Amino acid sequence: MSQSITLVRPDSRESRVVDEDTTGLDLFGDDTRVVAMRVGDKIVDLATPVASGDEIEPVLIDSPDGLAIIRHSWAHVTAQAVQALFADVKLGIGPPITDGYYYDFKVPTPFTPDDLKAIEKKALQLSKERQRFVRRVVTDDEARAELVNEPFKLELIGIKGHAADTEGASVEVGEGELTIYDNVRRDGSVAWKDLCRGPHVPNTSYLKAFAITRSSAAYWRGDQANDQLQRVYGTAWPTKDDLDAYQDRLAEALRRDHRKLGLELDLFSFPEELGSGLPVFHPKGGVIKRIMEDYVRQAHIDNGFLYVGTPHISKEGLFYTSGHLPYYGEMMFPEMDDEGQKYRIKAMNCPMHNLIFKSRGRSYRELPLRFFEFGTVYRNEKSGVLQGLTRVRSITQDDSHSYVAPEQAETEIKHLLGFILQLLRDFGLTEFYLELSTRDEDGKKKDKFIGSDEDWAMATALLEKVGLESGLDLVPDPGGAAYYGPKISVQAKDAIGRTWQMSTIQYDFNQPARFELEYTAPDGSRQQPVMIHSAKFGSIERFLGVLTEHYAGAFPAWLAPVQALCLPVSDEYLPYVEELAAKLRAQGVRVEIDDSDDRFSKKVRNAAKQKVPFILIAGGEDVAAGAVSFRFRDGSQRNGVPIDEAIDAIVHAIETRDNGLVPGQS
Ligand SMILES: [Zn+2]
Ligand SMILES: [Zn+2]
Repeated sequence: MSQSITLVRPDSRESRVVDEDTTGLDLFGDDTRVVAMRVGDKIVDLATPVASGDEIEPVLIDSPDGLAIIRHSWAHVTAQAVQALFADVKLGIGPPITDGYYYDFKVPTPFTPDDLKAIEKKALQLSKERQRFVRRVVTDDEARAELVNEPFKLELIGIKGHAADTEGASVEVGEGELTIYDNVRRDGSVAWKDLCRGPHVPNTSYLKAFAITRSSAAYWRGDQANDQLQRVYGTAWPTKDDLDAYQDRLAEALRRDHRKLGLELDLFSFPEELGSGLPVFHPKGGVIKRIMEDYVRQAHIDNGFLYVGTPHISKEGLFYTSGHLPYYGEMMFPEMDDEGQKYRIKAMNCPMHNLIFKSRGRSYRELPLRFFEFGTVYRNEKSGVLQGLTRVRSITQDDSHSYVAPEQAETEIKHLLGFILQLLRDFGLTEFYLELSTRDEDGKKKDKFIGSDEDWAMATALLEKVGLESGLDLVPDPGGAAYYGPKISVQAKDAIGRTWQMSTIQYDFNQPARFELEYTAPDGSRQQPVMIHSAKFGSIERFLGVLTEHYAGAFPAWLAPVQALCLPVSDEYLPYVEELAAKLRAQGVRVEIDDSDDRFSKKVRNAAKQKVPFILIAGGEDVAAGAVSFRFRDGSQRNGVPIDEAIDAIVHAIETRDNGLVPGQS
């Protein structure tokens, strides 16, 4: 008997007549880039027989689904290695994650770094045995009998069908039939087995590049009340070259890690005594922070904003009026009680700006009315998600609210987007896309968003229009909106291609209604304004963290805490560099002299470590010629530059905000 199927590829459809027992391996087995196949909306093993009428699409190894399959298949091999090496290991779950996978184990003693090396070695060895992944359907009772020594797997059999509720468990047991995968050696013997719904690669020869990366503690099903497990993480890629490239990216990210650079460059720290997520800025970090603040304060004034100020705490009722309570309650720090009056530390500035708007009658002539301040807000982020300056609990927003007549909203949003893009470019971020965050439409989280369907549709359409007209890519983010309205966020790419969410523009029709904000229209009627929230940096802390990583600590001259460092070749030239430094200081340049007892070569090394943009060296020849020699951060040098020319070059690089790593060469 023969049957007809359709092979679907991105750019073609091909009808084929095949034998009855044809499998995916018969169709794709000679192309090791195909790791599984999509039949209808399901991805299945290549060993699966095809059926008449099937529409079949190969799943390529470097597609998101293909990567998940090789990573999860490596999780099996890793678990097999762990059970081969250690006694009394009980299996948890092993799902794919971004760039890799993990597998959880209950073990008598936590893994050591040497254990991880041994696991990696064993897994590599097993992967070379060309073991096949063989799927087998079992009944619940059969599975219980086979897995009698695996208590966590037994528990999963019990929750089959509800697995979506459990962290990662949908990998093991789906909603359909229960399956066990055997790892079968070439001689037919079963090396290992696991309860799993698949799919996997056909055999381990498809698994070419992986590394065990680390281990950590984890709780069974993510619940602290449950057993503590050891989670072994791995990364896996289609080829060795892909793995190498990933490890290079990791090393580069580590080199740029702002937490490390913050300490090395004496910019900021997170004192234990203050609590997690609460940074302090040291004088050098304070310079960068102040320049950012000066820049954005002036830019707001130039863009028609009025500078206002608000306190850090408020009576709790204000946040009920705004709707932040209860919608945002879990992000706010708990209440404080003052003689029966409850106060909250603020997590947002908008309610207070609304009170300024409301402090007197407003006329249409005042609109757009734009308020701006540096508002430090406090968010009760779980300590597990805090990350250096990029995720903190005290957040200084460059927060603005534009109150506009509804018909002015589009122009205002365009204006804000232009303002933001200029700011990002001035700080050296030049590649962006936009994200349009809308409410969750499918109903599950819909009650987290307040306001009428018409208002949401109108506001979303308006943001989408402005986003599309900007010419930037606009990526949808369903469900990502604030509870009071949709938003556009600007995602900026850093020097190594990572994207960071920076600035936001949010359209709000809810708070003006809740605060009963109004203005007198030309016809004398009372009208409700629209409120547009916007943060340009997003937050000073996060932006500074991102800039530190973007520049790997080598800030452009206009941002650098120390812009020029003078190094006399020996003490006899000290008076000469003091005179030079005084001239630079008179031009507003942040200049230091290294007059320490260190040898000259050590001074040069120290200066390089501090990543100062202009190192100015003065030796005998320089002094004789009334000149100075530049040494730049890339190691290049320009000798014998006349003093006046040198000062002009430095001042010019600062004034023009030259964002190149070697000033003047960007
Ligand atoms: Zn599996
Ligand atoms: Zn706001």
